[in-house]
Amino acid sequence: MANKLLTQHKKNYLKQKSGLHNFIKKFEEKTVTGINAMVEEANDETWKEVECLSCANCCKVMTPTFTKADLKRISKHFRMSEKDFYNKWLETDKKNGDKVNRIQPCQFLNVEDNKCSIYEIRPEDCAKFPHFKRKPFADYSYIHIQNIEYCPATLKFINKLQEKIDAKFEW
Ligand code: SF4
Ligand code: SF4
Repeated sequence: MANKLLTQHKKNYLKQKSGLHNFIKKFEEKTVTGINAMVEEANDETWKEVECLSCANCCKVMTPTFTKADLKRISKHFRMSEKDFYNKWLETDKKNGDKVNRIQPCQFLNVEDNKCSIYEIRPEDCAKFPHFKRKPFADYSYIHIQNIEYCPATLKFINKLQEKIDAKFEW
């Protein structure tokens, strides 16, 4: 099921790739009146159609960034010191200093059922992923360029947002 979903996603993504990237990049130079309402609608419609437990691709091929608060909360849950937790599971991204997972899939993913074994205390980055509603939308649109290749929900969301914008504006 998951493989079929992701194979179809990859095909859809590759077919639309340059158009999608061009659309998302336009937010760097254009202001869209009413963008927040359109994002809300596209977000709600997307989550009626996407079931993350059939996918879990973000947990398999990407890593969350662990904040200080995440590190404190999750290491405490495992009764480990933050240092031991870091040494066991994490590393520091040389490009930006972020604390990230050392391995993929994530060590906390149960690959049998695609469930997160620390769901209630998962990193904030995971809880908010794929960050559709970060504001202002234009400032965070680059996130969707990073995620769209891997995340079927992001592809659906961007398709829906584009339909809404195209119906109202000439870009
Ligand atoms: S957020 Fe995206 S990549 Fe992650 S499980 Fe949901 S659809 Fe898949
Ligand atoms: S902590 Fe949980 S939600 Fe976050 S990447 Fe790992 S398995 Fe996925």
